[in-house]
Amino acid sequence: MLSAQAQGRRAAQESEEVMNNMDKLARFIEENTLRGACQCRKCVDAIEHPEEEQPDHGVNLTFFRVAATDLTRGDELRVLVQEEYPDLLDGREHNYMEIGATIGDQGLALMLIGLGHVLGIWKALTPDTIMPFLPDDVKQQMAGNGMVALKYTRPVVEVMP
Ligand SMILES: [Zn+2]
Repeated sequence: MLSAQAQGRRAAQESEEVMNNMDKLARFIEENTLRGACQCRKCVDAIEHPEEEQPDHGVNLTFFRVAATDLTRGDELRVLVQEEYPDLLDGREHNYMEIGATIGDQGLALMLIGLGHVLGIWKALTPDTIMPFLPDDVKQQMAGNGMVALKYTRPVVEVMP
């Protein structure tokens, strides 16, 4: 029979374990990312002029633009990714569908791809960064097919604006 104090400790340990999942990473993404409205024209909650509702800086992920609220937090994000999702640092391409399946939300996955890019951890590979000359509808179609990904290359020597 556990004392009330021991039960309290155990509950705290259990919630600690849950926190060690990807919750810290997810919370960091939500707290440090600015994202625009989705421009895929397929979202059920799409707004009328999503192109006008974008951050004025950051990286264009084709679906929307992503910027960081604080450009000094790259090291914190890198440590969180190393702790909670080290696969992203293996040098292979990881797209938002794969990341979304792992962290449970494709929107959050896109925000992570963009946030890590603007904080200088990896490169975001998107139709808008690789093939900006293509027509918008083609870029949207490619993005819809999964062509928005991150690729970690070490060492990262430059910080993308
Ligand atoms: Zn959309």
